[in-house]
Amino acid sequence: MSRIITLNPTDPDYQLAPHFNSREFRCHHCGALVVDLRLPAACERLRKEVSDILGRDTPLRLTCGHRCKIHNAAIGGVRWSGHIRGTAADIVTPRRMNTRIFAGIAWDIREAAGIARVGCYGGYHGKFGFIHVEISKLFPWYKSTWGDSFIV
Ligand SMILES: [Zn+2]
Repeated sequence: MSRIITLNPTDPDYQLAPHFNSREFRCHHCGALVVDLRLPAACERLRKEVSDILGRDTPLRLTCGHRCKIHNAAIGGVRWSGHIRGTAADIVTPRRMNTRIFAGIAWDIREAAGIARVGCYGGYHGKFGFIHVEISKLFPWYKSTWGDSFIV
């Protein structure tokens, strides 16, 4: 079951999960929002896991939630990107953690968190490290984004 929320650019923001607001998921280009509520729930679960492991409250920052088709095309995202459908988020690697471990944590909790795929972008303690978290089980041939060079 999916619960898709859509907001127009001028619609007010509201809380989607205890630590995640709709503003964090809006398209950077136009402010529109399409988000499956299972996505902020997955982010919330991941935030808790990372906080438990690091032993401190660890906010997770999104670099990308929803992308409208125009924005997705402009940055070279694949046509079938989960960001268009509101099923994917890119999450910055927290401080004092490296991206591979961050991706591994997301992968380890995938069943409890409802995560279908995890992509790992950026190297060891990479300055621009982030992970791509995808809750959609569409495109089952697309098993993993580890090391991929195209934008999902
Ligand atoms: Zn847009």
